[in-house]
Formats: sequence, structure tokens, C-alpha cells
Amino acid sequence: MKLKDQVALITGSARGIGKEIATTFAKEGATVIISDINTESAEATSTELNEQGFSSCSLACDVTSMQSVEEMVNKILDKYKRIDIVVNNAGITKDNLLLRMSENEWDAVLTVNLKGTFNCTKVISKVMLKAKKGKFVNIASIIGIVGNAGQSNYAASKAGIIGFTKSIAKEFASRGITANAVAPGFIQTEMTEKLSDKAKEAIFKNIPLGSLGTPQDVAGACLFLASSDADYITGQTIVVDGGMAM
Ligand code: NDP
Repeated sequence: MKLKDQVALITGSARGIGKEIATTFAKEGATVIISDINTESAEATSTELNEQGFSSCSLACDVTSMQSVEEMVNKILDKYKRIDIVVNNAGITKDNLLLRMSENEWDAVLTVNLKGTFNCTKVISKVMLKAKKGKFVNIASIIGIVGNAGQSNYAASKAGIIGFTKSIAKEFASRGITANAVAPGFIQTEMTEKLSDKAKEAIFKNIPLGSLGTPQDVAGACLFLASSDADYITGQTIVVDGGMAM
């Protein structure tokens, strides 16, 4: 029970990696807030967790809107009076080669991935500063470290998250608040399921551990950073990529 009695908010947690992080945290005793732009799906995930005997609630939130984030945070504080852990997980891709990339594709990815992380961190840091404790875990990507053709918007947003994380780690360190990032590589999700066998083979060749990662692999790194085991770790990025980028 590494997160007993902790209140953890995970953005974009109705499905995918965020849902797995929420499930892992709930199993470790946290009350998890399933926050997502997709309200129905967030409710379904929260119901699923509560039916398994865990503690959760769902809240609609579009991380790109400061107003939406403020409303969500007020509801959490009304209900639970505290927020101990935030995982900034909500993220999207809109891939294109730079010459074909529209301004909308650039803006959409930067706004959800980077501004969304800024919005949630800014609002919730006030709560944590008062409490003199808290943990931010920001989901970056290996693409933010090594880059990828066709993903300049995504790579910029994720590299931005890594720089943002280091900066807030320095701002908040003296106040008992840590901020770290997790940078997943290729993870088995709906997105990677669509890849052809040939494409997967090519990917496997570049992964020393020889397989795709799982959402559980990412959730395990998040759990470590959100728990007291990582109290003396801040401003770091844990890469979860099977050794691909080393
Ligand atoms: P998914 O697309 O499966 O899940 C993302 C969730 O975020 C969805 O429920 C989505 O809602 C929600 N969302 C989208 N926009 C917003 C918004 N504006 N406000 C709130 N919620 C929003 O993604 P993954 O689980 O694959 O990825 C999760 C994180 O991990 C992302 O940050 C991603 O960049 C990162 N990552 C993923 C990798 C992978 O291999 N999958 C690899 C490296 C990093 P909706 O259902 O409506 O779209």
C-alpha cells in the first residue's frame, strides 16, 4: 500500500496508459480521480474501479482550458480537501512531415500536451504549496529526447514537458514538492496495435529488450515517482523504452 490515503489526479485517464496508472495507484491505496475530456468513458472507468472495491471518482476536464481545470480542482477540493499526486498524462498526436504540417496540427498537439500540463500544474501547485507537499509526474515520451520524422509537433511538446518539469522541480524543491517525468518508448496500446507485423519487427530490432513495453511498465515507473520511495528524487526523467534510446 505505497499510496495509502493519498489523493491522486490522473489526467486523460479514461483509457490507455492513464487508466493503467490510475488502476495501479488505486491498488496501492490511493483515491484516484479519473479526469478526461471524454466524460462517459471517464465515468465507466471510475465505475469499473469502484466495483473492484477501489476508491475513485470521475471528473470531466479539458486540460487545454484553464477554466475547466480550475472547476475540476475546486470539485476535488470540495470533496477530498487535498491533492497529493498529479500525473499529467493527457496527450494527443497529429503526425505529419513538417512541410505538410498545418498550423492547426501544431497548435493542437502543443496545446493539449504542453499547455495542458502547464494549466494543471499551475492550478494544483497552489494547493500543494499550501500543504508543503506534493508530487508531480509528467508523461513525456522518448520522442521528446531523440526526435522522430513526422512528429516535430509531438517531439517539441514532449521535450517541452521535460524542460518544464526540471524548471518547476527547481521552483518547488524547497517547499517539499517534487516533479519528475516518465518518457515511454513504444508501448502496447491501441495506437501500436494498428502497426503491421513488418513495422513491429523493424521496431523490435531497435529495442534491446526485444518487445514493446506495456502500460503496466509505464505505470510502475509512475508509482515509484509518486511514492515516498522517490522522496529524494526530483527533476528527473525515467525512460521506459526497453533500452531503445540508450
Ligand atoms: P490515449 O489516446 O489512449 O489516451 C489519452 C486520453 O487523454 C484519452 O482518454 C483522451 O480522450 C484524453 N484526452 C485527449 N485530449 C484531452 C484533453 N484536452 N483533456 C483531457 N483529456 C484529454 O493515449 P495513450 O494512453 O497512448 O497515451 C497517454 C500518454 O502517454 C500521452 O501523454 C502520450 O503522449 C504518452 N505516450 C504514449 C505512448 C504510447 O506508445 N502509447 C508512448 C510515449 C508516450 P479521448 O478518448 O476523447 O481522445
